[in-house]
Amino acid sequence: MILVTGGAGYIGSHCVKRLQDAGYETVTFDNLSEGHRAAVRGTFVEGDLASLDDIRGVFAKHPIEGVLHFAAHCYVGESVENPEKYFRNNVANTLNLLQATREAGVGKFIFSSTAATYGVPESVPITETHPQAPINPYGQSKLMVEQMLGAYAHAYGLRYVIFRYFNAAGADPDGEIGEDHDPETHLIPLAIAAAMDRRPPLKVFGTDYDTPDGTCVRDYIHVFDLADAHIRGLEYLAKGGESARFNLGNETGHSIRQVLERLAVIAGREVPADDAPRRPGDPGTLVASSQRAREVLGWEPRFGDLDSILRTAWDWFEAHPEGYAG
Ligand code: UDP
Repeated sequence: MILVTGGAGYIGSHCVKRLQDAGYETVTFDNLSEGHRAAVRGTFVEGDLASLDDIRGVFAKHPIEGVLHFAAHCYVGESVENPEKYFRNNVANTLNLLQATREAGVGKFIFSSTAATYGVPESVPITETHPQAPINPYGQSKLMVEQMLGAYAHAYGLRYVIFRYFNAAGADPDGEIGEDHDPETHLIPLAIAAAMDRRPPLKVFGTDYDTPDGTCVRDYIHVFDLADAHIRGLEYLAKGGESARFNLGNETGHSIRQVLERLAVIAGREVPADDAPRRPGDPGTLVASSQRAREVLGWEPRFGDLDSILRTAWDWFEAHPEGYAG
């Protein structure tokens, strides 16, 4: 059985679904502070990683063979305003999970990290050996957990896979689950809501970056493909693979204006948008090299083009304009 923390959240719930499709049994552990009960398939335990007893209880009750750890706060801007919240939840609470994992003798661990651990890249595409110098507390908190994992591997023999996601986007191609954040801060759901006249015009944060059109360039990766990588990561560890770190992106950058242009074609209408100042903590360009994941895990994105990402996201919001509440 696989323990999935944060399995009620956006990326976690897509992974739980794919794990089950691949024949794994899962137990999702989530405090529902940001996730949705309706997004979770299979066994669900409501609990908080702030409580060592809560998480020990899951290991005591279920025959856990591996851990997928998604539970975390994930807003760059909020982390700049309120770093304590990020260090408390993303770092201190993860230490409880690591302790319970070690006590239970579980040796396989998959961790959701982020491109934000690289900070402002010295060169793109970014490989896994690029120096990590995060420029916001969110990225710092994820890097600290990467370092904790290194120490656990050294001292206790834990084996881990770290996935550094670039910009997760899109929704379940079957249309069952999708993205529903409150508050929503991410580009694609906000742009879709603006196109549907459900929100004010999108604010384009920064038009003076050193990029072809002045707006930030990001590497958008479909949540289905992220989920697929996690299953491959589990298989890799099950076969005895060494601890490893992988970037997950499509190796292609799209500017905000390009995203809005493609979305307008899919939506059949303009996306209302206004230029706005830069958002603190945003590097200009983040594009992955995912060659290592391709070579070592045999990972190949199935929804690698921006249109597929936008189309599945659009279909989800069209069917669920209120998200899971609708
Ligand atoms: N962005 C924007 N307007 C918004 C939300 C995001 O211009 O309302 C920009 C943001 O500055 C970044 C890119 O879109 O350059 C992707 O941001 P998002 O929050 O989706 O993901 P992040 O890069 O923070 O993981």
